[in-house]
Amino acid sequence: MEMNLKSQFKKADGKPYIIAGPCSAESEEQVLKTAKALAAQGIDCFRSGIWKPRTRPGSFEGVGKIGLKWLRRVKEETGLKVTTEVAKRDHVFEALKQGIDVLWLGARTTVNPFSVQEVADALEGADVPVLIKNPINPDLKLWIGAIERIYKAGITQIGVIHRGFSYHGDTKYRNVPRWQIPIELKRQFPDLAIICDNSHICGRRDILLDVAQKSMDLDFDGIMTEVHPTPDEAWSDAAQQITPDQFDELVKALVLREPSTDDIEFLEHIEHLRHEIDEIDDELINLLGRRMHLAEGIGEYKKRNNISILQPTRWNEILDKATAKGKVKGLSEEFMAVMLKAIHQESINHQAKVMNTEDVERLMQ
Ligand code: PEP
Ligand code: MN
Repeated sequence: MEMNLKSQFKKADGKPYIIAGPCSAESEEQVLKTAKALAAQGIDCFRSGIWKPRTRPGSFEGVGKIGLKWLRRVKEETGLKVTTEVAKRDHVFEALKQGIDVLWLGARTTVNPFSVQEVADALEGADVPVLIKNPINPDLKLWIGAIERIYKAGITQIGVIHRGFSYHGDTKYRNVPRWQIPIELKRQFPDLAIICDNSHICGRRDILLDVAQKSMDLDFDGIMTEVHPTPDEAWSDAAQQITPDQFDELVKALVLREPSTDDIEFLEHIEHLRHEIDEIDDELINLLGRRMHLAEGIGEYKKRNNISILQPTRWNEILDKATAKGKVKGLSEEFMAVMLKAIHQESINHQAKVMNTEDVERLMQ
């Protein structure tokens, strides 16, 4: 679908659009305190959730519409634009009635076309900018579908928020970024502003800057970060929130590089190369796993035949051969030695596991 989008969220003169504020409004005092600190830093828009879609009932589900009054005070006293999440028809009406400047759709709303349509119908005839978060699952079509539903309701001021995707497995992220997805969205809709919600991608404080920087390097238009005066005491998402001072440091630490019109191609190419690197890393890990498995088999065999684990001649042979091969591939002798020793040590550990403790102790000396 052709869309004629206008966006106030686009990066202007290389300066990212900055949205910050608490995950949830908890009290009028907490909201105002955070907003005043952030206004002093010159952010563009203040966020705060008042209707919270929580995974399980019984957790804090937001203060509800009283929070809209607090956001109004933020507007009056700081001049900041304010934004909150809407998921239902009534949320839209209440938020518009109280003059909320920007509405956002959360990941759990975008995932459900019925909910998106309900919000879109409520927006019919309104002239309010809307930010649409990606759905919780990595489904670009669903994300685009939500954008189209909101656009069809007559909203042209649309931006999107990349907040990562649910992932079942071992990862350092709360929601894995899968950067190829927002990059593809940007390729298909170059006028669409993309904001990175580093807080919900990371779920923790220590990697917030890395993710925000990555989004800037990918020429995203801005960031949305959760900021709380006392993050550890936050009623929701405590582990990922930071203080206004920490946020100030984060923004100042961002390196902003010049975007150019053919960036998309360039970024896609880089992304493609990185993807290949990730695949090679996966292969390396699989191969190492196989190697260790073999080492365990050798361990069993040696044990049965009563042979010690370490056989110096065999090890020297491996080292020499591999170092020579590495040289041909442009790998330094030093690197080969460190890498092979680490692999060898891990092999010994695996073999030792299946042999007796006496051998292990001897090898550790
Ligand atoms: C939020 O922004 O606080 C939120 C609930 O985020 P998401 O919809 O990305 O989970
Ligand atoms: Mn949150």
